[in-house]
Amino acid sequence: MKVQVVIVGAGACGLVAALAARDAGAQVLVLERDASPSGSTSLSSGFIPAAYTRFQRAAGVTDSPEQMAADVQHKNHALADPVMVDAICRASGPTIEWLADRHGIAFELVQGFLYPGHSALRMHCVAEKTGAALEAALLRAAGEIDILCSASATQVTGRTIEFQRPDGSCEEVEYENLVLACSGFGGNKEMVRQYLPEIADALYFGHVGNQGDAIRWGTALGAGVRDMTGYQGHGSVAKPHGILITWALMMEGGVQVNANGERFSNEHLGYSEQCLPVIKQPGGEAWCVYDERLHRLGMTFPDYREADAAGAVKRSFSIGKLAQTMAEVAGYAEGKAKDPFGRDFTTKPKLVPPYYAVKVTGALFHTQGGLVIDTRARVLDKAGRPIPRLFAGGGAACGVSGPHVWGYLSGNGLLTAVTLGRIAGTEAAR
Ligand SMILES: Cc1cc2nc3c(=O)[nH]c(=O)nc-3n(C[C@H](O)[C@H](O)[C@H](O)COP(=O)(O)OP(=O)(O)OC[C@H]3O[C@@H](n4cnc5c(N)ncnc54)[C@H](O)[C@@H]3O)c2cc1C
Repeated sequence: MKVQVVIVGAGACGLVAALAARDAGAQVLVLERDASPSGSTSLSSGFIPAAYTRFQRAAGVTDSPEQMAADVQHKNHALADPVMVDAICRASGPTIEWLADRHGIAFELVQGFLYPGHSALRMHCVAEKTGAALEAALLRAAGEIDILCSASATQVTGRTIEFQRPDGSCEEVEYENLVLACSGFGGNKEMVRQYLPEIADALYFGHVGNQGDAIRWGTALGAGVRDMTGYQGHGSVAKPHGILITWALMMEGGVQVNANGERFSNEHLGYSEQCLPVIKQPGGEAWCVYDERLHRLGMTFPDYREADAAGAVKRSFSIGKLAQTMAEVAGYAEGKAKDPFGRDFTTKPKLVPPYYAVKVTGALFHTQGGLVIDTRARVLDKAGRPIPRLFAGGGAACGVSGPHVWGYLSGNGLLTAVTLGRIAGTEAAR
């Protein structure tokens, strides 16, 4: 069988690439290892940052691709490739509008709070505010496209791709162009230990099927890799429930304490880097503490509601010296003292009892390093030359977070999945 554009992976990147390639008139085949496509995309909150969209303008938000690129680069200390960051931020707004207008994905602007490091409201989501609903919307849009499930790609050459069916039988497809959209290596313990030893013993909260295959095949074909030590972590996964507790609670005034009731960090630096201080606390855990106002904010998020229903949100608890810590935090909010960790508490309302608390741990969500690509999503060899017929995006490609956990600006994951997916699909259809 010969196919014009073969795409490996049916997460956000692969499905968006498939829509773009089909829009450009190409014959498309998507290979997906799972029986039902989900990926890290379905596990995510589904918030996609994009600049200068009509959704922002309708809400009176001022933003631009340049401002967004500056935020991305500020967060990673300018360690990502500025050419890629500019191209991705420029493509972000048009990509969201194209998905909405041409493919019927009803995006909304997330309002009410800013994620750390963003200077404008620019997160876009579907009404349900979940990655599962985003994935479902993409699958609906991709209705007519050939998506072969339970087809695990096993080998790639410069012309062919082999995949295996659950009964062990193998088939081969010849491709004109190949898009690697099978994400990073978070599910591959060995690679995580090699590249990300600091988080290797923590919970992995992403899709287990992301085994680093794109990196393995790409490098075998001569591709370069970059920022392999970069990743998205998170400091707030309910323990033992395994439910993401929205960081909006921290951004709007909540704090994290350890089992002794003591704060240990500036929670406003970002949720990604917060995974490390949390796993270093006694028992590798911490408590998110907040009040009724923030509990109500939390209840606007489906995963928080799930956590509440599962009993993760405590109204009655005793956590070491919490009373003393909360008195200190009140002093910071009133401007009577400065937070030793450098957080400014004066911009948000003071927390008032009764308090709520959720026990959480830190986790690895998603890797950020990967195949080096150019602004056309073409995979580059070690000398920077495009490898013929090979494209990549999303978690398979090097992202825009640089080589450190603290370089991840909220939304960098779906940003590169969706925008590079569209670029890769369009280019592969040429
Ligand atoms: C809990 C959580 C919350 C998150 N929230 C957000 C958020 O709100 N905003 C944001 O921007 N990012 C978020 N992220 C990150 C985001 O989910 C990822 O960056 C994004 O989904 C990556 O998309 P992708 O298409 O590259 O990969 P995926 O969605 O993981 O898709 C890859 C697909 O490839 C398939 N595959 C893998 N190997 C093979 C193979 N050999 N053959 C065939 N198929 C294969 C997999 O089965 C999978 O379906 C979150 C991540 C997690 C874990």
